[in-house]
Amino acid sequence: MTTRGHCLCKKTSWEYEGEVNWACYCHCDDCRRNCAAPVVAWLGVPKKNFRWTGQAPKTLESSKGVFRHFCENCGSPMGFEADHYPGGMHLYAGSLENPEEFEPTFHVNYQSKLPWLQMNDDLPKYEGTLLFAPDDLRDYDA
Ligand SMILES: [Zn+2]
Ligand SMILES: [Zn+2]
Repeated sequence: MTTRGHCLCKKTSWEYEGEVNWACYCHCDDCRRNCAAPVVAWLGVPKKNFRWTGQAPKTLESSKGVFRHFCENCGSPMGFEADHYPGGMHLYAGSLENPEEFEPTFHVNYQSKLPWLQMNDDLPKYEGTLLFAPDDLRDYDA
């Protein structure tokens, strides 16, 4: 199965084969500012199953070993890679061609959730980063 996504202007796009490793919400301040959104929905896929299709994105090293990809033309955030997640590409659920099919299964950095954001779900809510969330399958080789 091929899943596709694209930016606002559609110049930058991607696709991956197969299943996601995980799908979650992140409430951290970095994700929030990067997307200017109150919460960011993420999915993680093995890099070996992923490729950029349209124009290649621009990349910002937002902190040491952390790489944020975005569309050079329209500025949409497009992806995240980090040295501490070798082999993984993190993508925004909001970029999916069919974002309504996204199925988040947990929250991370829940301690940073904005008090005015109402989310009425029964999903596990973890404090701290994805790295420490038990649902995060870091082994992308599987
Ligand atoms: Zn674009
Ligand atoms: Zn985050």
